[in-house]
Amino acid sequence: AKFEGKNKYLFFKSSLSDFIQSRQKLAVELSNAVNSGEIKAYYQPIFELDTERLVGVEVLARWQHPVRGVIGPEEFIPIAEETGLIPKIGGIVTEQALTQCMSWWSQGIPEFKLSINLSARQLNAGAGDELSRMLSETGFPAKNLDVEITESAAMEKSARVVREIGHIGRLGVGVSIDDYGTGSSSIAHLNKLPVSTIKIDRSFVDEITTTNQLNSTAQTIVAMGHSMGISVIAEGVENDEQREYLKKLNCDCAQGYHFCKPLSQDEFRAFLKAS
Ligand code: C2E
Ligand code: CA
Ligand code: CA
Ligand code: CA
Repeated sequence: AKFEGKNKYLFFKSSLSDFIQSRQKLAVELSNAVNSGEIKAYYQPIFELDTERLVGVEVLARWQHPVRGVIGPEEFIPIAEETGLIPKIGGIVTEQALTQCMSWWSQGIPEFKLSINLSARQLNAGAGDELSRMLSETGFPAKNLDVEITESAAMEKSARVVREIGHIGRLGVGVSIDDYGTGSSSIAHLNKLPVSTIKIDRSFVDEITTTNQLNSTAQTIVAMGHSMGISVIAEGVENDEQREYLKKLNCDCAQGYHFCKPLSQDEFRAFLKAS
């Protein structure tokens, strides 16, 4: 018992340095992966609740690791943010998606909206100019593009961020507030931004059950959005109960495993052809 404390400390110390080492290893691997084309755009369909029509697609980054298989963004986006790789990864995924959509549409597949995720760091790194360049290079119509900015990034009141979001809006690109309800929003600040859509965070969709439908946060968000002329998308819809309730609320669109999980480029193409 005398040595227990010391052993615990040693154990903690070695697992912490293991953790740091594995993160550093991952950071190096990620930087190589970015340069060797292992970052892929995945697509999750978004449906209009009224008609069940596919109206959009959210682009989600995946790392196609040669040994570990497909790695999700929760594991590598934080490292990419820390090491400054995020603008590059965002650019790669966006370029893939814009090019891919142009090719699908040229093959007669009906047009839909494309939503890409932009982090705070990208907003500070001149995301507007880069989007503008990519739109002209690919010929992708700005009106078919939405950028998703998390509520916490959008509520950053720095002049730089407000200006960048304004710039993106003036390109004719839609601005969506992502994970809405998780941060602290000010309506006054929201009104200064060219917001066309808000996305109800999955945690509020999770709350929806048959027994808990009164005065839900989802209901409040839909009402607020519509009062401002903003369209509302619910994310993380996993069952029919949630779909039915959101439809009753007049929520405009939804995405989630209940409809479809994020798909690789080939899977999504097959999905489009079948529907
Ligand atoms: P997000 O923007 O909130 O994306 C939605 C996440 O919910 C995705 O996780 C999606 O796969 C997952 N999801 C969709 N439907 C369901 C459902 O019914 N149930 C559950 N439990 N989950 C569902 P994913 O793909 O792991 O992405 C995680 C986060 O990583 C995203 O959250 C986004 O913040 C970030 N991210 C992904 N791709 C990019 C990117 O290209 N750039 C940037 N900056 N961030 C990205
Ligand atoms: Ca998103
Ligand atoms: Ca989201
Ligand atoms: Ca979310």
